[in-house]
Amino acid sequence: MKSQQIRQTFLDFFKNKQHEIVASAPMVIKNDPTLMFTNAGMNQFKEYFLGISDPKNNRVTDTQKCLRVSGKHNDLEEVGVDTYHHTMFEMLGNWSFGDYFKKEAIAWAWELLVDVYGIDKDCLYVTIFEGDASENLERDTEAYDFWAELIDKDRILNGNKKDNFWEMGDQGPCGPCSEIHVDIRSDAEKAKVDGATLVNADHPQVVEIWNLVFMQYNRMADGSLKNLPAQHVDTGMGFERLAMVLQNKQSNYDTDVFQPLINEIETITGHSYGKTEQEDIAIRVIADHVRAVSFSIADGQLPSNTGAGYVIRRILRRAIRYGFTYLDKKEPFIFKLATTLAHQMGDAFPELKAQQDLIINVIKEEEQSFLRTLDQGLILLDSMIASAKANSQNAIEGSKAFELYDTFGFPIDLTALILREKGMELDEKGFDKAMQEQKDRSRAASATSATDWTELRSDDTQEFIGYDRLEADVFISKYRKV
Ligand code: ATP
Ligand code: MG
Ligand code: MG
Ligand code: MG
Repeated sequence: MKSQQIRQTFLDFFKNKQHEIVASAPMVIKNDPTLMFTNAGMNQFKEYFLGISDPKNNRVTDTQKCLRVSGKHNDLEEVGVDTYHHTMFEMLGNWSFGDYFKKEAIAWAWELLVDVYGIDKDCLYVTIFEGDASENLERDTEAYDFWAELIDKDRILNGNKKDNFWEMGDQGPCGPCSEIHVDIRSDAEKAKVDGATLVNADHPQVVEIWNLVFMQYNRMADGSLKNLPAQHVDTGMGFERLAMVLQNKQSNYDTDVFQPLINEIETITGHSYGKTEQEDIAIRVIADHVRAVSFSIADGQLPSNTGAGYVIRRILRRAIRYGFTYLDKKEPFIFKLATTLAHQMGDAFPELKAQQDLIINVIKEEEQSFLRTLDQGLILLDSMIASAKANSQNAIEGSKAFELYDTFGFPIDLTALILREKGMELDEKGFDKAMQEQKDRSRAASATSATDWTELRSDDTQEFIGYDRLEADVFISKYRKV
């Protein structure tokens, strides 16, 4: 089944169950101080759960563009390394606002996966909330009983509060959830562990695909839980993961969602996918990141030095640097993939076609300017190596490598790689020390003024996620005068 058809089948299935098909909300959120990017399907319905406004229809379904690169959900470091976490992905969902509850949500999820999509029952297992004594929360025996009518009992696993109890925030609607996982290991792989049922994250081919959340409590300001007057259902299924299962692939990147992008990367760079792990990671990172950046620009969020724009700039630079380091791409090329993406996804998301020229131009300009910075950093690194060699040293001081990173945005792994190639070493401890000193200085400075530094904190957790020097060129010319 082609991905286009997989998406449509999901929406049609719930439409037949009297759900209204609604559009994805924008991926970039402009008017919520607590969230920069949509990270789940439920975000756009928050007000209904909080009782602030009433929905037109109490059953809806959609596919939502999500981005998980900051705050509570930050999957960035996984992306490209594993084969099923993306920065940008689609979350298919169905909702009940005070209408149906666990029975229907469970029965329909099963009907869709097994009867409609035809997934082998023996590949599936589910989790239910095991309860939590400290909160006086009982095991979700209701969900268990509904599942027990559909699936072997030994395929229903208990899950703890962290994985199987969902909360919107410190206060507000919350409740147990039930997750559906697929086990698509080959028989040979299964034999290695004696056929035991593995849980998500134990193995790359055992993954969570769908999360059914049952909102039945309200977390009060004093931390206590009250029953909600109306119960809601909120579900989210990873579209790319579903495609992996239905297309009999072992990786999201092997589906038709990513193959056109990967083919184009192979053509442009001359590097084939499936040869070395390092190049494969680079290809996956680029195929993933171009989606995040393109969808963001289509939503009106351009790369910049602050807030959401800065997050997008860093994602794009991460892709550029993987191409530069591992695929030998020293000139802009990621912008070309925007055309492939618009061609492939433009029917489901017309904004990609409507904004295609803007997306291409913005990415190309960003690539040009960051590649220039990388070039200048390389010249500097060469001169550092030459002077170290002239002094019979075989290591570059950590503070010097930090200067490259700090002033030119020159990535430390690239520095390390180049040094290795030239038989030199990097003083990593010195680098870490210089980095720490810089962070301390910047924290102190940002308390009084915010000039050269952007200190980026994701809004919802105040978690520190990065620094960027704004005026690299000024520092470059300053350095040259020395
Ligand atoms: P995981 O445990 O795999 O990180 P999750 O529990 O964080 O997933 P949920 O918040 O429950 O995910 O989101 C609902 C569904 O969205 C998941 O079951 C999964 O199929 C999909 N999903 C979540 N994060 C990603 C991601 N980064 N890339 C692709 N799909 C994702
Ligand atoms: Mg996760
Ligand atoms: Mg999970
Ligand atoms: Mg989950």
